[in-house]
Amino acid sequence: MLRHALRPDDHTLPTAAKNVVSWSGMIYGYSQMGLHEEALTLFKHALNENVGVNDFTLSSVLRVCSASTLFELGKQVHGLSFKTSFDSSCFVASSLISLYSKCGVVEGGYRVFEEVRVRNLGMWNAMLIACAQHAHTWRTFELFEEMSVGGNVKPNFITFLCLLYACSHAGLVERGWRYFALMQELGIEPGSQHYATLVDLLGRAGKLEEAVKVVEEMPVEPTESVWGALLTGCRIHGNAELASFVADKVSEMGAVSSGIQVLLSNAYAAAGRWEEAARARKRMRDEGIKKETGLSWVEEGNRVHTFAAGDRSHGKTLEIYEKLEELGEEMAKAGYVADTSFVLKEVDGDEKSMSIRYHSERLAIAFGLITFPPERPIRVMKNLRVCGDCHTAIKFISKCTGRVIIVRDNNRFHRFEDGKCTCGDYW
Ligand SMILES: [Zn+2]
Ligand SMILES: [Zn+2]
Repeated sequence: MLRHALRPDDHTLPTAAKNVVSWSGMIYGYSQMGLHEEALTLFKHALNENVGVNDFTLSSVLRVCSASTLFELGKQVHGLSFKTSFDSSCFVASSLISLYSKCGVVEGGYRVFEEVRVRNLGMWNAMLIACAQHAHTWRTFELFEEMSVGGNVKPNFITFLCLLYACSHAGLVERGWRYFALMQELGIEPGSQHYATLVDLLGRAGKLEEAVKVVEEMPVEPTESVWGALLTGCRIHGNAELASFVADKVSEMGAVSSGIQVLLSNAYAAAGRWEEAARARKRMRDEGIKKETGLSWVEEGNRVHTFAAGDRSHGKTLEIYEKLEELGEEMAKAGYVADTSFVLKEVDGDEKSMSIRYHSERLAIAFGLITFPPERPIRVMKNLRVCGDCHTAIKFISKCTGRVIIVRDNNRFHRFEDGKCTCGDYW
């Protein structure tokens, strides 16, 4: 309802007030409120009415494109930034780096970064986030060195969050501790997000006791993300006992989000505490927490094709399923065996009930295979985590087809090429 009430047309400004500043302010406002369509409509109006654009407008529009992974449109806005010379603004450049990174084209981010010689902290941070998300782990550390030494830019709390995140994805425990100490030496107090990332790093690396110690000793109250990180570590390393202990702690907190309720119920189930598992499930139902529907999408020109698990609504459904059948045979010959245990253990949301063969990302990839020319990488975005079996399957698909497949899930990027993934199976 609100969306309609706030349509740009209803907010038409008096002619005298229609200048670049008022337009850019409104576009920024819409983008901040998550009214992406409205922001884009207004931007188009601004272009039609020749009110001009500024770096603020371009940066807001680019952020909308990133958030909705509208890569083609984003590239057009990049072209416009270039024409208007705003591409050298740190504001615009930072947004461009995030756009390229979020759309799975980190190379584009590097190019933008190299072209702008005078960089502010926001731009360094944007590049660091991109590197960390794309598992260019060592590049993250190198950039940090460059930034502090040559760039003469002082890092802030976001910088250290990127560094810890990079360490966490690569399992670099010692280095993570070093950065954690360094930030405090520089007078930056770690916040709950830093603790969550540190616990994530320790948990994923199997140092669960160390992780518990961090949680017990942290000076601020552990947040849901901190507990969530610990539960994730327990799940990865099969420590059901600790998981159920942590789950008790979280249950004491009272109201928690849907994501952690799922973790709780899984933790109790893994420990064989079925009653508690059922109670956690019931609480989700009572509180009306809906499991997020697993969706994957692919961009083709200015169109976005979205798939749910087992989806048969797409115009090319027949070809897509045929492609999957055909691939299935090739993959089996190459040695792929479906691991159905993931159906029970690992899958979040409502994808669990679906046959893993038709998880949304596989449909999206099959669509990419039949649609895009062979040299074009297939970029798929997904709102949930990729399950272990799909991860294996996509490795086989990249090997059998010789295609590059980039999947962004809710946590990170995977670039599959020749049977391998850049995450090194650590995600
Ligand atoms: Zn899957
Ligand atoms: Zn991967």
